[in-house]
Amino acid sequence: MTSSRQTKIAVIGSGLMGTALARAFAAAGHEVAVWNRTASKARAVGGGTLAFESLTEAVAGRELVVASLSNYAACAELFSSKDVAAALTGTTLVQLTSGSPADARSGLEWARAHGVDYLDAAILAYPAFVATDYATVFYAGSRAVFDRHHPTLQAIAKNSVYVDEKIGAAATLDCAILEAYYGGSLAVLHAAAMCKAEGLDPQAFFAQKNSFLGLISVTADAAQDMIARDDFSGAQCSLNTHVAAIEHIVRLSGDARISTRFPRELLENYRRAVGAGLGEQELPAVFRTLKD
Ligand code: NAP
Repeated sequence: MTSSRQTKIAVIGSGLMGTALARAFAAAGHEVAVWNRTASKARAVGGGTLAFESLTEAVAGRELVVASLSNYAACAELFSSKDVAAALTGTTLVQLTSGSPADARSGLEWARAHGVDYLDAAILAYPAFVATDYATVFYAGSRAVFDRHHPTLQAIAKNSVYVDEKIGAAATLDCAILEAYYGGSLAVLHAAAMCKAEGLDPQAFFAQKNSFLGLISVTADAAQDMIARDDFSGAQCSLNTHVAAIEHIVRLSGDARISTRFPRELLENYRRAVGAGLGEQELPAVFRTLKD
């Protein structure tokens, strides 16, 4: 699909991300209105965009309205204006503000009540990567609405991924990826701190990047299969053995006087699985004990 047709778009929010999105749409030849609570930031977007002082005027008559604000509460506050809601009727709202699946569901409820087509979306990119191959945007909601706007939406990310009709699906996938990112990053930083505290140059750890990323990759592949089969048996390394390894990490952290909070949290999760009788199973068996 290509987008040779010019679409009338409004981008609500001229923060770091909103500015990048608006510029990308404009660079792709679309007619872009921008609005921001702090008007000077909307005027600074440039790139052929048109800054509006009034949100109602910015969104009126637009085919596609993209929101990029700090949170859904800020959007809800703006959309609570009768004039803004009336101006949005008949348009498609793409909610690119990061949030939870519950936020997405209330967004859809609001949109349905106001005659607005709604896609909930999540962007996986820094603003500098918007419009490049390195930007991914996940979309959830009506497939027909997504298909209608897909060519236009390609302007902000080469990877436009339609996830599911379930409106919370994009936020769910985004949260899942971000958890792996933040949790994995904290583990990497804690590991570097352990090395430094023990007098080992953290460079020695980073030099082994392929080893630890490789282990995570192998585990993700194994977990995918085991979770699908609901069978965590194997002959590689039992949870009992893994728990013993984590106990060493807790001891090293305590001895070296760096925070033990993160490894203790790990230990607690793995021990809980052992306590549930899974000690002889493989590491992904922890999955079974993560339900509240
Ligand atoms: P930002 O630079 O801090 O911009 C926040 C925007 O929200 C500004 O336009 C701000 O307006 C507006 N805002 C906040 N509260 C508001 C309110 N009560 N009423 C009206 N407007 C309000 O943040 P950002 O980095 O652009 O992030 C925007 C969204 O993109 C977030 O949901 C974020 O999670 C997501 N995101 C960002 C990145 C990234 O790398 N930056 C990556 C992925 C996803 P003012 O200028 O008037 O304060």
